[in-house]
Amino acid sequence: AKQQGGNRAQFNNPTINAAVKRTFNLENELQHALENEEFFIHYQPIVDLQNKDIVELEALLRWENSKYGYISPDEFIPILEETGLIRKVGKWILKTVSEQINSWHKQDIHLSKVAVNISPIQFNDENFIRDLHEILQETQLNPKYLNFEITENVLYDFNKSLDILYKLHNLHINISIDDFGTGYSSLSYLKFLPIDTIKIDKSFIDNLDEDGKMIVQSIITMGKNLHYTLIAEGIETEKQLEFLKMLGCERGQGYLFSTPLSTDAVTRLLGRNSVT
Ligand code: C2E
Ligand code: CA
Ligand code: CA
Ligand code: CA
Repeated sequence: AKQQGGNRAQFNNPTINAAVKRTFNLENELQHALENEEFFIHYQPIVDLQNKDIVELEALLRWENSKYGYISPDEFIPILEETGLIRKVGKWILKTVSEQINSWHKQDIHLSKVAVNISPIQFNDENFIRDLHEILQETQLNPKYLNFEITENVLYDFNKSLDILYKLHNLHINISIDDFGTGYSSLSYLKFLPIDTIKIDKSFIDNLDEDGKMIVQSIITMGKNLHYTLIAEGIETEKQLEFLKMLGCERGQGYLFSTPLSTDAVTRLLGRNSVT
C-alpha cells in the first residue's frame, strides 16, 4: 500500500493551500490599507433594555479593499495581530473615534461613552499608554468618554494588567470585559481589578434553554453583587430580550435593536436617541 503521511496529505490539500494564499494576499493588502484609507468605523448602539434608549456605542472596525471587497473583522483582525500592524491600526481607531466624539459634541450630541475594542497586542504594548496620552493631547478629548473593551485573555500577567488598568481607571476610562464567559478567568479573579462592565458573550444569549438560563442567571446575579454594569451581547429576538429583562440584565446590544451603523446613520439615530 502507498504510504501517505498525514502532514503531507494536509500540505497538498488544495483548500488549505487556497486559504494560505488568501491570508498571504490579504496580508499584503493590509500593509497599505491605512495609507489607502480603506478602513472605516461602524458604530453599534448599546441600549437600556427597559426603554431601548441608547446608552453607549461600540466602535467596530471595517475594511473594504479594492481587490478583495469587504472582509470580515473575524478574518482580518487576526492578520493585523499576527503582523503587528494592529499597533498602528489600533492607534488610528482610537484617534478616529476620539475625533468623532468631538464632532458629535459640536453637533450637540452627547453620549456617555464610546466603547473601543483593544487588542491584547495593543494593550500589552509598551507604548500603549504613551500613545493614548498622545492622542488625548492631539484631540483634546476628555478620556471619560472612552470605554475600552478587552477580553479575559489580555490579563495573563496580573501585576502588569493591574498597572495598566489603574492608569486607564485614573483617566476615567471605563474597562469592559468582552466575550465574558469564553475565557478561563472568573469574576472572583476579575474583582481584584478595576473593571466596570461585563459583556456576556453572544454564545450564552444564543442558548437560553434551561441550562443556559442558569449560567446567564448566575453571571447576572454575581455581576450585580460585585457592582458591574452588565451588557448582553448579540440579542436577536424578542424572546431573548424578555428573558434577559426577567433575569435583571440592564443593557444589551444586538441586531434586534440595531446592526452596526455608518457614522452618518448613527448620527441621525443619536439625534433621536432611541432605537425604537
Ligand atoms: P466583538 O468585539 O465581540 O464585537 C461584536 C460582534 O458581534 C461584531 O462583529 C458585531 O457586528 C456582532 N454583532 C452584534 N450584534 C449581533 C447580533 O445580534 N447577531 C450577530 N450574529 N452578530 C452581532 P464584527 O464587527 O464582525 O466584529 C467581530 C470581532 O472582530 C469583534 O467581536 C472583535 O473581536 C473584532 N473587532 C471588530 N472591530 C475591532 C476593532 O476596532 N479593534 C479590535 N481590536 N477588534 C475588533
Ligand atoms: Ca467588543
Ligand atoms: Ca463581544
Ligand atoms: Ca467576539
